[in-house]
Amino acid sequence: MKFKSFLLILLFSVSIFAQKDERDRKWNQPVEPFKIIGNVYYVGVTEITSFLIATPKGHILIDEGFTETAPIIKENIAKLGFKIQDVKILLNTQAHYDHAGGLAELKRATGAKMLISAEDRILIENGGKNDFAFGDGYLYEPVKVDKVIKDGEIIKLGNVSLKVISTPGHTKGCTSFWLEVKENGKKYGVLFHGSTTAPGYKFPNEKYPNIITDYEKTFSVLKKLKPDVFLASHGNFFDLLGKIEKLNQNKSINPFIESQTYQDYLADTEKDLREKIKSQQTKKEAKE
Ligand SMILES: [Zn+2]
Repeated sequence: MKFKSFLLILLFSVSIFAQKDERDRKWNQPVEPFKIIGNVYYVGVTEITSFLIATPKGHILIDEGFTETAPIIKENIAKLGFKIQDVKILLNTQAHYDHAGGLAELKRATGAKMLISAEDRILIENGGKNDFAFGDGYLYEPVKVDKVIKDGEIIKLGNVSLKVISTPGHTKGCTSFWLEVKENGKKYGVLFHGSTTAPGYKFPNEKYPNIITDYEKTFSVLKKLKPDVFLASHGNFFDLLGKIEKLNQNKSINPFIESQTYQDYLADTEKDLREKIKSQQTKKEAKE
């Protein structure tokens, strides 16, 4: 009896933060790590991204994947010849389980400081509990935040200055980052974007009263940006796998330098958002 309950506890503790379904597992397949541009490297998986910004004074990691992604990210960093202990700053674009699930393990492995917006700090320190859209549906190991970052703030490490761009809506504290890199004597603006998708979200939303104005503000901020390289929390937002294939076919042209995907992404997600808001208002009016 005792052993049986021990087994049950063990089973429970293993599965509580585990990947829910086939889709998540598909999103978490290993990808050979590679240099994207300048000092920016890809260390994530097939759909769930993770980026390493390397500096001589240590590195910055943006997004930490699922709980199951953490060991892959560690391996990818090592494969590129970097030391995991040299990661000094952990950042996160959206505190959902598929981007923050690996945070606890990566914080232990790196000893790095975790920096996040005030709003997503609540989610990170709660382990994803009480999400305005998903409730307690997608939990992960909570992580203590070391510093809260604000819109417009510059995060400095070594020769790198990374600008914080607040892009709320997808999560209340969803954040994007902007970095200038140099390659072959040219300067490029790199955007690390959170998300403007609204998966199954309710509009209006009593748990997030400012949701529509936050999305509006986010779209107007993002539309003003002109990234040379568009990167984001999900690979499909910027055709990660397609670009990897192109890179493997021809190493002399960098497929990540292009602007069309960003314009298409903004147009598509904004259209989807407006349709969701409109159809839910229409439904509401029909009921009244
Ligand atoms: Zn999300």
